[in-house]
Amino acid sequence: MDTKKALALKIDLLINGVALNGRFDIGSRAFLNSISEGIHFVIFDDIYITASINNESPYTLCKNETDNDIFLLGKGISPLKAELIPESKYFGVKSSDGTMMENIGTFQTDRVRISAYKGCNFTMNNEGCKFCEVSHIKTQHKNRLEHISELMKYIEQHEDRVKHYLISGGTPPDYGWKHFIDVCEVVSKNTSKPIYAMISPPPDLNVINQIVGVGVQDLSINIELFNTELSRRIMAGKNRIGIKRYFETLEYAVKLLGNKGSVKSILIVGIENYNDTLNGVEELAKRGVMPILSIFKPIKGTPLENFHHPKTDDLITIWESAQRICEKYSLTLGPLCKCCQNNTLTIPISDKYFKYE
Ligand code: SF4
Repeated sequence: MDTKKALALKIDLLINGVALNGRFDIGSRAFLNSISEGIHFVIFDDIYITASINNESPYTLCKNETDNDIFLLGKGISPLKAELIPESKYFGVKSSDGTMMENIGTFQTDRVRISAYKGCNFTMNNEGCKFCEVSHIKTQHKNRLEHISELMKYIEQHEDRVKHYLISGGTPPDYGWKHFIDVCEVVSKNTSKPIYAMISPPPDLNVINQIVGVGVQDLSINIELFNTELSRRIMAGKNRIGIKRYFETLEYAVKLLGNKGSVKSILIVGIENYNDTLNGVEELAKRGVMPILSIFKPIKGTPLENFHHPKTDDLITIWESAQRICEKYSLTLGPLCKCCQNNTLTIPISDKYFKYE
């Protein structure tokens, strides 16, 4: 299958999800109504996909119970071999105080995502992002350091499929960045694997030094929407920080971590005008920040649940334009890790894309 057809199939799967036929070794998280959860699988050896489970999808993953082979069936494709990425080995395991380990950190394709905070400070103030599944949650609490430490020890001993770590979660309260840094430090002390953190701009740029100082190698500070008028209506909290402050923080991070892709920023495609998104790509790339495109997914229960998702053909055009802009600034459309492309508008078209060993 050529690149554009493979990308179109990936986009269709991200938009429509997949139906399941057979018994699949997946945990209950796969059924959550969420931007990042679903069933994780691979097609064409290196196209990683996390698709929502949807019985009405035109695509079905079928499992042959005799030999356990899995095939993707659906519109316009011949049966296509797929490889399931089963749940982590810590799914169902309890910590010493009885907490389920999957509630401390979630396994996705090749990494574990650990939230420093569950819940978001913006949603507490009715300023949450209207596309986000936590936008209705009005509580925020810390993920405890002793839990994270215990999870890390378990993973490092038992789960060799974890190749790196992502530290993210809701935006901390202004006084809560110390806890975020402490979480980064606990993760770093327990592993020699790469660590990537996803943050909003902190009130003090010195927080960036501290996050990097405890061992985080990659940072993502996500603009999400470039159109500031629209962002005021869709993501009031992030908008209040201001796009100027986002760029100041990204530029500061580039000074610390370089302009080769260690500093990234996600833009959502499908809410704002496509030209706004591409202008955002240009503004990031010219500062040495790697753009990552995420396809808008209307999540049930969010204020944008009835929004239409973008069209596949439009997304392919945006992908091509974004690639060209990145190349102009000697960058590549991110993420470079193939396994982290599971829910992004990216396809591994060159040898710049890799897998962590
Ligand atoms: S800042 Fe992040 S966690 Fe908070 S509402 Fe927006 S997308 Fe969700």
